[in-house]
Amino acid sequence: PIVRASGSSVDYLPDANFYKVEAILRPWRIQHVSSALLKMGIRGVTVSDVRGFGAQGGLTERQAGSEFSEDKFVAKVKMEIVVSKDQVEAVIEKIIEVARTGEIGDGKIFLVPVADVIRVRTGERGFSGERMKGGRADMFSNKSPA
Ligand code: ATP
Ligand code: GLN
Repeated sequence: PIVRASGSSVDYLPDANFYKVEAILRPWRIQHVSSALLKMGIRGVTVSDVRGFGAQGGLTERQAGSEFSEDKFVAKVKMEIVVSKDQVEAVIEKIIEVARTGEIGDGKIFLVPVADVIRVRTGERGFSGERMKGGRADMFSNKSPA
C-alpha cells in the first residue's frame, strides 16, 4: 500500500510499477510547478499547451452574459510525469500545493498506469529505463533503496 504524507494509505488499480501523473493546470502556475518538481528530484516532465472546459468553462460565458457554449475553451497546460509507484503521492501532493489557488479552474489530475518505460538511447526497460541521473531515487537512495 502507498502511504501518503497524511498517514492514510491508497492502492492503485490496475496495479503497475509506473504511473503517469497527468495534470491539467493553469498556464501561469507551470513555472512554479516545474521548479518545485525539479527541487524534489523529478527530472522527466512533458508539457503541452491544451484547451478544455470543466466547471470553469461556463463561468466565462455567464460573465459575458450569454449561455454556455462548448466552443469556448480555456487555455490550460497538460503536464505529464511518469514516476515509479512509490513517488506518485509525493508528486501529486506537490502539484496540489503549488498549483492550487482555491478558485474554479485550478485543474485536475489523472493517474494512469504505465506498462513500461523504455529509454530510446540505450533500450533499457523497467526501472533502468525510468530512473534518471540525479533523480528522486538517487536523492533518497541512502534512505529508501529503490
Ligand atoms: P537519456 O539518458 O538518453 O538522455 P532520458 O531518460 O534523460 O534519456 P530524454 O531523452 O532526455 O530522457 O527525454 C526526452 C523527453 O522525454 C523529455 O524531454 C521529456 O519530454 C520526456 N520524458 C522523459 N522522461 C520522462 C518522464 N519520466 N515523464 C514524463 N516525460 C518524460
Ligand atoms: N523516478 C525517477 C527517478 O527517481 C524520476 C522520474 C521522473 O523524473 N519523472 O530517477
